[in-house]
Amino acid sequence: MADLDYSKLHRDTLAVRAGTERSQFGEHSDAMYLTSSFVMENAEQAALMFSGQIPGYTYSRFTNPTVSAFEQRLAALEGAERAVATASGMSAITSLCMAHLKAGDHIVASNVLFGSTMTFFNNYLTRFGIEVSYVSPLDIAEWQAAVRPNTRLFFLETPSNPLVDVADIQAIADVAHANNALLTVDNCFCSPALQQPLRFGADIVVHSATKYIDGQGRVLGGAVVGSSALIEPVYLFLRTAGPTLSPFNAWVLLKGLETLSLRMKAHCDNAIQLASWLQTHSAIEKVYYTGLKDHPRHELANKQQSGHGGVVSFDLKGGKEAAWKLIDAVQLMSRTANLGDTRTTISHPASTSHGRLTPEARARAGIGDGLVRISVGLEHISDLIADLERGL
Ligand SMILES: *Cc1c(COP(=O)(O)O)cnc(C)c1O
Repeated sequence: MADLDYSKLHRDTLAVRAGTERSQFGEHSDAMYLTSSFVMENAEQAALMFSGQIPGYTYSRFTNPTVSAFEQRLAALEGAERAVATASGMSAITSLCMAHLKAGDHIVASNVLFGSTMTFFNNYLTRFGIEVSYVSPLDIAEWQAAVRPNTRLFFLETPSNPLVDVADIQAIADVAHANNALLTVDNCFCSPALQQPLRFGADIVVHSATKYIDGQGRVLGGAVVGSSALIEPVYLFLRTAGPTLSPFNAWVLLKGLETLSLRMKAHCDNAIQLASWLQTHSAIEKVYYTGLKDHPRHELANKQQSGHGGVVSFDLKGGKEAAWKLIDAVQLMSRTANLGDTRTTISHPASTSHGRLTPEARARAGIGDGLVRISVGLEHISDLIADLERGL
């Protein structure tokens, strides 16, 4: 019987089927290989495997069958040749930089990035002689103007946090490539169920699998995804330095991928309903969600995403006092800065996730004191609206 051609399958099918290899026991679900090392048949096989001359499993810092199944399934969903899994989203970003950059290199990055990504760039990469310039993700001319002869990497997060604004991946990729730089996109907010940045010219995708890929708030994980040529150096760094994903977490994330597409559809459905309701409320100044037709990036988001995602932010008329009052009044939503969970979370970015930014940097990023961010979960929309109504 000829093997099934996986390249012809729909993404929803790949999410359930790709990367599965059965052991001799014929288990239907994916097995979990909790083992730090693997036994060889003989000395020669050990030598060949350790030197990479034949494939195989030697030690779980290098790779492990459960981790490798997760990597193959995620690569299939992103339409990529290869993925390597990491212990967290941050270790995906640090491993990418360690593998591809050296002293004297320069990064052009969006000025709206996950807080720890900026801290890593500013406080650590700079100590190793790597410079970073920040630009508005929406202004293509700024990306071009920031390029220097030593620019190696463009780094973009889209949609961004907490205003869920959308940047043009193709336009930024074109500037990167005209200048011999690689474009990396942090695809955490959409997950591969809603956006595959490689299709729009990105070279590398990084993930915090902790968010939607698990989607149920259980484990940390991450991944770097791209062509084999770009991922091999990341793998070599990882197996040397060790921020690898544990087989247990890989197994949880494999199961997360199987329901990812269904969950993302449900997150998007709830989010648009919540955003539309908020827009009509008299206590709300402004709602940030590209699913709303009057959002300036509505068309761009439609072009590069198959849904607008599960995060909705809004400005309250009463500033910080009103925002804190609302957050304290909700009874169903979880008061936590985490996102991408089945459970709805509510947070005040200016005093939590973005509290370490200077007031000027916050103002530049458009994060006001009255801003509230909601990661819309899978509870029924009527209960979510009732919960907010209590506080508004
Ligand atoms: C959470 C997050 C990260 C970091 O992921 P961890 O798994 O917490 O290390 C990176 N980028 C974005 C956009 C995130 O939301």
